[in-house]
Amino acid sequence: MVTLDAAWAERWMRRSAADMHAAREELTELDRRIGDGDHGVNMDRGFAAVASRLDDEAVPPRETVAQVLRLVATTLMSTVGGASGPLYGTAFLHAARVTNRADLDGAGVVALVEAAAEGITSRGRAVPGDKTMVDAWAPAVEAAERAADGGDAVEVLRAAAAAAADGAAATVPMIATKGRASYLGPRSAGTEDPGARSTAMLLAAAVAAAGA
Ligand code: ADP
Ligand code: MG
Ligand code: MG
Repeated sequence: MVTLDAAWAERWMRRSAADMHAAREELTELDRRIGDGDHGVNMDRGFAAVASRLDDEAVPPRETVAQVLRLVATTLMSTVGGASGPLYGTAFLHAARVTNRADLDGAGVVALVEAAAEGITSRGRAVPGDKTMVDAWAPAVEAAERAADGGDAVEVLRAAAAAAADGAAATVPMIATKGRASYLGPRSAGTEDPGARSTAMLLAAAVAAAGA
């Protein structure tokens, strides 16, 4: 059994940094089509800063998932400009509030995903169908809740990640009504929402960090 503890949370964040770096151009290209072309740059900058803070031995204790996620939140808020910095920062901050324990079971993963999604919506006020990262988070929450009925922590995580990927893909035909892409109106249809894509990548990295 894989344990979703502070070491897992660190692996999750280091893998996210590597994945965001690798996807920098892909995310930026999506944002070039329907935004201002900086989402890949924003994510790469933010998660590179997270990885370098994790490399710094002097940085605060990280004995719980919550401590790691709090460090992620403050780093993203201070290094990522634009909409996504405060949104992801709030997501990780709210997730930190419910992960103050040695390791997470299935219900613990549900709580993490629910709190992160709630952080995004409390900050950005978007609803499913607005063509934002909420279109990845909302199905992730539903899938996690369903999987928790009998599923272990990794199964819950895997269900959330799969649903986020499907949710991101489903943003392609949507017309954006929140964020910069909404300025394009109907012309925002035909491109996947960059933030929904980065959300799916983050949850995929969480699964990969669990070795599953
Ligand atoms: P900016 O739009 O300021 O340049 P980014 O390009 O980094 O910031 O992030 C854009 C992403 O932020 C969008 O693809 C969308 O997923 C997300 N986003 C924008 N506004 C909102 C909102 N109100 N609620 C949820 N997500 C949003
Ligand atoms: Mg942008
Ligand atoms: Mg911008």
